[in-house]
Amino acid sequence: MSMFQTSGNPFDDLRNMFDSAAQKTCEAFENSKEYVERAKLRSELNEKYRQLGKAEFEYAVGETDDTDAIDTLVAEIRELRNAYVDICKLLRRGEAPICPRCAKQNVLGNSYCSDCGARLYTD
Ligand SMILES: [Zn+2]
Repeated sequence: MSMFQTSGNPFDDLRNMFDSAAQKTCEAFENSKEYVERAKLRSELNEKYRQLGKAEFEYAVGETDDTDAIDTLVAEIRELRNAYVDICKLLRRGEAPICPRCAKQNVLGNSYCSDCGARLYTD
């Protein structure tokens, strides 16, 4: 009689152990992939803002009267911002929320700060 609760098949037990470990690793990986994606979107956004600033400047000083470039950049920024907000929402589900008022790290699942009572999410 074994001291552990087993299925009676050592290969099944090993496989079950491996499966749950593999699943944990996979979740952690998925999460970090989304962090990488968010950082990528952030830098793409910054680059587009930079280009927009340049295009607006050139228009303002009369170097160009072409507003198509500005319109295109605004449309691209709008799309990137939507994608950025989506991924932030996705990531936030797995993150312990930080209070926007007092900066307390709250417990995952809280909607209101356990210290000051402020709303943790705006949407
Ligand atoms: Zn708070």
